[in-house]
Amino acid sequence: MRDELLPLREKALLSGNEAVAQAAWEAGVLFATGYPGTPSTEILETLVGYPEVRCEWAPNEKVALEVAAGASLGGVRTLVTMKHVGLNVAADPFMTLAYTGVKGGMVIITADDPSMHSSQNEQDNRNYARFGKAPMFEPADSREVTEFLAGAWDLSERLELPVLFRMTTRVCHSKSISSRGPRREPAAPSYTKDFVKNVMIPANARTMRVKLEEKLNLLRAEVETHPANRIEGRSAELGVICAGNVYNYVRETLPEASVLKLGFTFPLPAALIRKFAASVERCYVVEELDPYLETEVRALGVALATVPAPRPPIGELSPETVAAMFGVAAPQPQAAAAALPELAPRPPVLCPGCSHRAVFMTLKKMRLTVTGDIGCYTLGALPPLASMDTCLCMGASIGMGYGLERALGPEAKERVVAVIGDSTFLHSGITPLLNVVYNGGHTVTIILDNRTTAMTGHNENPGSGRTLDGGPAPAVDYRALVRALGVEFAVTVDPYDVDKFKQAVEMALLHSGPAVVIAQRPCVLLPEVRGKHRPTVNYDSDTCTACGACFRIGCPAIEKDAATGKPRINSAFCTGCGLCTTACPCGALSL
Ligand code: SF4
Ligand code: SF4
Repeated sequence: MRDELLPLREKALLSGNEAVAQAAWEAGVLFATGYPGTPSTEILETLVGYPEVRCEWAPNEKVALEVAAGASLGGVRTLVTMKHVGLNVAADPFMTLAYTGVKGGMVIITADDPSMHSSQNEQDNRNYARFGKAPMFEPADSREVTEFLAGAWDLSERLELPVLFRMTTRVCHSKSISSRGPRREPAAPSYTKDFVKNVMIPANARTMRVKLEEKLNLLRAEVETHPANRIEGRSAELGVICAGNVYNYVRETLPEASVLKLGFTFPLPAALIRKFAASVERCYVVEELDPYLETEVRALGVALATVPAPRPPIGELSPETVAAMFGVAAPQPQAAAAALPELAPRPPVLCPGCSHRAVFMTLKKMRLTVTGDIGCYTLGALPPLASMDTCLCMGASIGMGYGLERALGPEAKERVVAVIGDSTFLHSGITPLLNVVYNGGHTVTIILDNRTTAMTGHNENPGSGRTLDGGPAPAVDYRALVRALGVEFAVTVDPYDVDKFKQAVEMALLHSGPAVVIAQRPCVLLPEVRGKHRPTVNYDSDTCTACGACFRIGCPAIEKDAATGKPRINSAFCTGCGLCTTACPCGALSL
């Protein structure tokens, strides 16, 4: 798809996420929802700046998709955003949405994270398109985001199917030249009752399953000539089939190769693939993660050539890895990039003054087994705190703590606690806590309530008291909520009151029944907290015995003097939180 298809547009340098927001606005989207997750978070954070679009954070991705399905039923164009693992949470409605279909066009962004820059796995969500039978686009850069999305809502409405738009970290966060255009007038909302289409009882599902296959057959014909799929003819010997950002690496590394650049990757254009493969002597597939394209192309009976060195099945590709696969020289970085000095490695750590540090410092001292969860507090698993024993997926901490309790029996009592962030608890921690209550467990849950979804950039959630657009909202009362679930022992305590927090955890462990400790202290980076940081902690070198206890709390403001082995407080980092004063046995640190 080239310029002539999107004429009279103003050029703009946009990240992939900004391009999604702009394209949604242009397409007349009226409702957008999602759950924050790197690398997708900035889409809704950008779109909320367009007043014509109602933007919301949902408590989780399943709720987001269901809400969007309802809005679509009312004839409104919708956008749903999530990171790749979020689609697992939304998989239940997603797998049936292609059957019921949509009315107002719907685009679902899945932002995949090859190499796991900020994720617990690198699942390849292209598989979800085939699995859920939803048409899928894969852009290579911001310009293709704009081009592909320009027709995505139309396509969705025409075929009454949700469209899966698969991006990756590089596409979401890289800026490239794209464009801006005017907004299209949205259609007026409307609702029509349709029992067969919208009520998925088995008899109706069987009818809609047939209709879905008819739609896919229409789509299979359409993708053959869709402008998102194009052949770039060059060499008659070497041909590469690729999609997404991998296309950029192929073009950079193998400039002479003919390329079948696929942008519409479910369903695949079978005839176009066969035609391309027949036009070159050797045809290869180059792709990241799963052999999604390779499997489909081979299933068409197309003979693929084997690259000299197999592609890495794990992680992102790069120009260097593609060059290694083909045994050619890697493209040289531009001079300015080559001249950049090596950056010092910076292992991720909890921030100075982080409320979670006090929790993990205490749990470590208590020698407890801690089932953990997803959030910035997962860093509590790393040395020197090293006080989290598990991390599986959003909301798993409470269920795993309860399961461990069931497996170990009385031995687990007084030894196992589950920790879960406030936003994570609201995302998927409520039902596992209900399970503990319902099945007579004793699990102790510590809700780390820092008043925000910190990990993804301080996003609002139902506990923060604000909506995505900054407006006021009722804030969840965690104590009332867990009591309503049947938890009798529920206390709120500031974890920086170390003795009181420890006492609360001890009492919870002794309680005969499920117990919840709400460790409440706002994130140190929230604007309203930043202004209240206290002066740098005082350090008395004469009193210090170089015992090293302060280093073991893992505060990045406490540096080690290589010559003396004693601490040095970095005043640029220290927030004056005072936690180190409670760790020092000699009184060498004071506020
Ligand atoms: S007071 Fe101590 S623990 Fe808190 S930020 Fe400063 S050095 Fe770190
Ligand atoms: S804990 Fe106190 S005595 Fe020990 S090294 Fe740190 S400042 Fe010195």
